[in-house]
Amino acid sequence: DKQKFIRNFSIIAHIDHGKSTLADRLIEKTGLLTSREMQEQILDNMDLERERGITIKLQTIRLVYKAKDGNEYILNLIDTPGHVDFNYEVSRSLAACEGAVLVVDAAQGIEAQTLANVYLAVDQDLEIVPVINKIDLPSARPDEIKEEIEDVIGLEAHDAPLISAKDGLNIEDVLEAIVEKVPAPTGDKDGTLRALIFDSYYDSYKGVVAYIRVKEGTVRKGDKIKMMATNANFEVTEVGILAPGQVPMEKLSAGDVGYLAASIKEVKNCRVGDTITSKEHPAEEPLPGYKKVVSMVYCGMYPAEGEDYNNIRDALEKLQVNDAALTFEPETSVALGFGFRCGFLGLLHMEIIQERLEREFDLNIIATSPSVIYNIYKTDGTMMKLQNPTNMPSPAEIEYMEEPVVKASIMTPTDYVGAIMELCQNRRGEFMNMEYIETTRVILHYRLPLNEVIYDFFDAIKSKTKGYASLDYELEGYQRSNLVKLDILINSELVDAFSMIVHEDKAYERGRTIAEKLKDVIPRHMFVVPIQAAVGSKIIARETVKAMRKDVLAKCYGGDISRKKKLLAKQKEGKKRMRQIGSVDVPQEAFLTVLKFD
Ligand code: GDP
Ligand code: MG
Repeated sequence: DKQKFIRNFSIIAHIDHGKSTLADRLIEKTGLLTSREMQEQILDNMDLERERGITIKLQTIRLVYKAKDGNEYILNLIDTPGHVDFNYEVSRSLAACEGAVLVVDAAQGIEAQTLANVYLAVDQDLEIVPVINKIDLPSARPDEIKEEIEDVIGLEAHDAPLISAKDGLNIEDVLEAIVEKVPAPTGDKDGTLRALIFDSYYDSYKGVVAYIRVKEGTVRKGDKIKMMATNANFEVTEVGILAPGQVPMEKLSAGDVGYLAASIKEVKNCRVGDTITSKEHPAEEPLPGYKKVVSMVYCGMYPAEGEDYNNIRDALEKLQVNDAALTFEPETSVALGFGFRCGFLGLLHMEIIQERLEREFDLNIIATSPSVIYNIYKTDGTMMKLQNPTNMPSPAEIEYMEEPVVKASIMTPTDYVGAIMELCQNRRGEFMNMEYIETTRVILHYRLPLNEVIYDFFDAIKSKTKGYASLDYELEGYQRSNLVKLDILINSELVDAFSMIVHEDKAYERGRTIAEKLKDVIPRHMFVVPIQAAVGSKIIARETVKAMRKDVLAKCYGGDISRKKKLLAKQKEGKKRMRQIGSVDVPQEAFLTVLKFD
């Protein structure tokens, strides 16, 4: 029975604890690729991921390992992303596994996302295999970390492999632990087909390709299948394994991980999380899905000067194919014209999409200030969900408003408790409690408005603790709050793209900061450009960009021709990233400056 020799697992870790490096070593050790052939961190294959050192899209790879018991095992490794924004993708990959290797840095110990990931794995009933990495570091303290794992997580850790993924030390211990501890898949290969789609992407030849985990039954080329969420039917054109790259096989059976193509033209017919079953003998119940993805942060994306709206739409559509968490719909802005309102998992997700649009699609984008979704209870008894601050009804129509709040866990050395408490206080946080992990480290639990978390909270925590603290948060619900719309006027014109919802008590301070920052980034014009912040009709802050001096211009136009050309070229370059609002040129960076506060 071949199931006995299959192990399906993920690697989970706090960011930077060495997940990708360990994945590389496992691939190397199982002889799939020699180290010379292997480009580093083969699973992190997007440029952006590599630069930022985070895994965004999950990747799957099939390893063959000859264990000490003399048997050959198939190890399907499903990579997971390691950032708080991407928990959704983590649970996606875990749903396809029976076990998870938990990597803990031997110097850092357990961090906020170590715990968050462990909880996700426990939710899926996975066997967790702890591994202590970076034992080559002089500051490594493996014995203490083992104790921490036992005390804080409640996992047996005395025999956890002690490894250095970097130096390739004791990697075999990890492979042996996977074989020993991760349960083999179960499920009847002759039963009714149920396969979980845990990822998908669009291929111009094959149509949508689904990455699947077969839980029951068998699927072959030529089979008629049905998607349980949409009832759409298809005929399988190809199934196979990821070895790496797609290797066609005759069939995939219960326990197997692989890919499936069925000339599926529309992405919406191949939803991640859906169950594939047989058309002729359909299953009665789909497989349990996992946490549904919810966009938490929204912003407008508009073409910069000279950019085509349609190109942006095409690019967003392409990105959405393998990023189910990205949503978008058309919207219009008075200041920026036609664009899109896009939904993201969090701020990092938003930044990554913006960067991908610029790099991979060579587009010039202007993104408006991010916003969360507010509930507005109106005096006429109705409730509306507000995504775009511009659409906020007038105060007279509003009975009260609610904003989303998150439960945040911040793990920090005790030295920084004061600094973190102050930061959370400033962000309207409500202290819940503090837990000791060891004598020198604690977890602080806070309730915080999401709208305070999306504006560089993560960076602020890192900078206030020299990088030692870590953060995890999850949506808790909504709470009533006194909120107002803060508007920005440039040259007396309201620029809707800058409008944001803020707490009443913060409006003055934010308005002033934004006006000051805009003053620095908006270039001088031939005329004076006033910048104002307003709540309703009340101006709460005012700055002025002075007019360009005459002699500067005279110099420009009087000078020699080459200099003038250079200047024009420079202006053109600058133009690319400008938007004209009224008669004022506003550079793209102006739209970003409103994001940063501390
Ligand atoms: P990930 O974010 O969990 O995927 O972590 P990476 O695998 O990208 O590793 C983060 C950093 O830690 C990189 O600079 C690695 O070179 C380094 N690293 C990984 N494993 C080890 C190790 O065993 N020892 C040391 N000293 N550094 C390591
Ligand atoms: Mg990584």
